[in-house]
Amino acid sequence: MTPMPATSAAVPLRWKLAMASKLTSPRRWLAAGAALVLAVLVLPQAVMAADAFRWSKEVQRGQLDNGLNYYIINTGDAGKQVSLQLLVKVGSLDERDDQSGVAHMVEHMVFHATRKYPAGLKQHMESLGWRIGVNYNAQTNFERTLYMLTTDSKAGSVEAGLDVLAQFAGGALIPADALEPERQIILEEWRTKLGVRERMDRQRRALLRAGSLYPERPTIGTESSIRQQPAQTLRRFYSDWYRPGNMALLVVGNVDASALQPLITQYFKDLVPAALPTRNSPDPELHDQLRVAQLQDPENSASQVGWLLRFREDKRQDVDGMRARLIDRIAERALRSQVRRLAVKLPAGVSSLSSSRGGLGESTGSLGFVASVSVDGHQAGLQQLLLLQERLRRDGLNAGDIAREMAEVRRLNDKGPSQQADRELNGWQAMLADAVQADRILQDPLQKQEQISAIVRELKPADINARLQQWLAAPDRLLFMLAPGMSPVKLPTAAQVLAQQKKLATAALPPLLADKKAAAAPASLPELDSSGAIVREDDLGHGVQRWTLANGDVVVWQPQPKETVMRFAAHAGAGYRLPGAPTWQWQLAAQLGNESDLAGQQEGELARWSTARKVKLSQQQSETQLIYSAGVPAAQLEDLLRLYAARQSQTGIALPALISATDQLARQMARRPDTASEQASAQLSKLRYGELPLDQYPDEAALQALATPAGLATVGQQWTQLGAYPVTYFISGPADSAQMKELAATWLAGIARKAGSQPAQPLVQADGYHEARLAVSLEPQGSVRAVASQAMPWSPERAAQTAILSRIAYRQLRQELREKEAGIYRLNYKLSLDPQSRLQSELSFTSAPERLDALWSAALRVLERLPSQLDTAMLNEEIARLRSSEAQRTSDAGTRFARLQLSYTQYGDARYLDDSKQLLAGVTADSVRALAQEFHLARDLAVVKVVPKEGGASH
Ligand SMILES: [Zn+2]
Repeated sequence: MTPMPATSAAVPLRWKLAMASKLTSPRRWLAAGAALVLAVLVLPQAVMAADAFRWSKEVQRGQLDNGLNYYIINTGDAGKQVSLQLLVKVGSLDERDDQSGVAHMVEHMVFHATRKYPAGLKQHMESLGWRIGVNYNAQTNFERTLYMLTTDSKAGSVEAGLDVLAQFAGGALIPADALEPERQIILEEWRTKLGVRERMDRQRRALLRAGSLYPERPTIGTESSIRQQPAQTLRRFYSDWYRPGNMALLVVGNVDASALQPLITQYFKDLVPAALPTRNSPDPELHDQLRVAQLQDPENSASQVGWLLRFREDKRQDVDGMRARLIDRIAERALRSQVRRLAVKLPAGVSSLSSSRGGLGESTGSLGFVASVSVDGHQAGLQQLLLLQERLRRDGLNAGDIAREMAEVRRLNDKGPSQQADRELNGWQAMLADAVQADRILQDPLQKQEQISAIVRELKPADINARLQQWLAAPDRLLFMLAPGMSPVKLPTAAQVLAQQKKLATAALPPLLADKKAAAAPASLPELDSSGAIVREDDLGHGVQRWTLANGDVVVWQPQPKETVMRFAAHAGAGYRLPGAPTWQWQLAAQLGNESDLAGQQEGELARWSTARKVKLSQQQSETQLIYSAGVPAAQLEDLLRLYAARQSQTGIALPALISATDQLARQMARRPDTASEQASAQLSKLRYGELPLDQYPDEAALQALATPAGLATVGQQWTQLGAYPVTYFISGPADSAQMKELAATWLAGIARKAGSQPAQPLVQADGYHEARLAVSLEPQGSVRAVASQAMPWSPERAAQTAILSRIAYRQLRQELREKEAGIYRLNYKLSLDPQSRLQSELSFTSAPERLDALWSAALRVLERLPSQLDTAMLNEEIARLRSSEAQRTSDAGTRFARLQLSYTQYGDARYLDDSKQLLAGVTADSVRALAQEFHLARDLAVVKVVPKEGGASH
């Protein structure tokens, strides 16, 4: 029905260089379609005799006379919440040809009038104080429909929950007059999903699941089915499938099963059983075939070649099935390592190879290999995929990988039952729902542990290798190619591919590269003297000390004797918004500097040293800051500081690394399609900040000029310049202060810095209201993205009050645009006060294009009147919610460390550490109201509206 509310719109405010990340990960290709089942160690149902699988003792089960099954897990007193779910074993896959979209529409309609609550079940739940996305939700997919409720554990609340679930199960009336407005909301839900991702998913599903009903039964339905399905069809579907024998009640939490059972009987006994229609098979038909296909979309940016094998799998819940799945798991993981090893040296045009295994139904599995390729690298990619499979056919898996994965299974199995003992509410709930949905039992962990031990004892590496060969020999094969935008790809014919494969089968293959890790000499770091003195010490209170180092840097030290981890952060003003070069070039210098070896080291030596010592230093660059951070055991602290100092003083960027980075960037630029969403982002930035010549994407010529010795000198200077910024260190953890001081003097006090370096400055949004309209959408979809910004001094209290107002504004916007206007399905709204003293808000939603302007005006009115229409009950509810989440947060060491940094950056001391304990004491409905008076959320706004391209809508 509805996702969690109030997530940030994540409007990409500025373009950010993303060299290392692939635009579309290969794995995602294979994860298309419904959730793929990979529950290796949880077992499907079976025909069993002597060694019948036993249910876990944690689960209290029962069945009413009408056939309804219920399952109760008491998690004890620890959790105060109770989760109640009604699982209905029907999804869009079970729809008949004339029922497209009906399973999901029924899910929406059961929240309306029911026998017991003719004014609406949703109204009843809201009157109990339950909120959508917080206390209740529902979800339909291809295979099932799930209604979810979370209540406190008071007997009255749990009973009210059972009452509501019983209405879902059998009380819905689905009146025609309530269907009409709900259609509008479902239509907007359909519209929200439109876009390049949905188009690609649809194409992938058609290929991956060809031969099954999945491609023909999208859960959301189609535009015309949503507009036209009559209430009569929905009622029929409800009456066919919502029968006690086809539903299960799942209760997990702090509950007493014996007290619950009579209530379950009371609320659910009157459901009437009936014969059920036959469910459609989720498994595809398989054939001896090689299909060759292309995926294409004007807004797609990925470039890939993939090979997919489909086969039947043993999913029985018995010892044989358990053995089969253990072999699958070990083979899958050993294969991943082997593919990584074989992908170390790849030809030009192919940048990565990967493998992944998935499930495609009840008893169908798949194995996929994907190569990421350059725009013209598809032939090379195909050759690599064929070569890889031939290699695996001949050499099989690596014996070391198999041994390691078998040991891992043994290790996990030894831990098994104890792991289950401390599982929390959400873990139990998901496990139980998965098991019940698949008609499996949740097995007794001790029995499972014994059975797995016995199986693993007998397993041989040959069994694992045999499984790989079985997968590789699967006759149902698919080759697909995917190029950015509409660029043409020349697809080979199946006969050509088979001939290519046959040729490889008899060819001599180049020898395997030796395992690099084993061959490499133990790494070391060159000599370094970065020592100096501590010239001043201050006590900042709250147990925090400040040491000023001889080079001007500052260490803020907070001893935390009870912690096990040392936390480290180094802040400098070396953000990417510095004058003198484009922002992408500052980012490139920072990233290259951070990935390079030290001057004089062999390739990869520093990385090997870091891996061997288990110290990892992460770098993050924002507009205004360059931050290094790490967390290490106390014994590793010196290695960490040593690494940081070497990184600062001895990094040597090499020309090949620069050339490879600029090449990669050029490829990324070449396949960057001009999507509607990119154009909207660029326009939004222009409205907010004006033209920014330094923020342009790099062009081919600039990248080529940089990939030269002269360019290397420039990048080297930029790296040095970034490293010369004065640094404030934050360190917290169990080290003792004397030792810490000595380490700081030895490794940090002598790093060369340049005083007076001007820190990078953030952009500030232009005042006033600025709006632009772009006709670029390929879908019948209008969308709005808006960002407001005003100056407002930061304080922890104001930030908390702003978070409360953010949730209230979200609720009021949703109420107006969705409940009242039925104009949208989902909206994103987030209001926050950032430490750079700007109050920022981001708002986005999609709607029918013709309603966009009216809905936007309605949203503006909500924001304008927000300060004067704050309901006290709502304020108090949100304050209570924030208090309870704050109570959990303050006990977290990571949060305390973040607050130390925030406090020192804001105030030059550690006051926020203590203040934050009192923080919410001063937050009252009145104080929040007073702050809201200072907001003008509808005044300084940049707004971009996107509407369909003329004649370009594809529906
Ligand atoms: Zn929905």
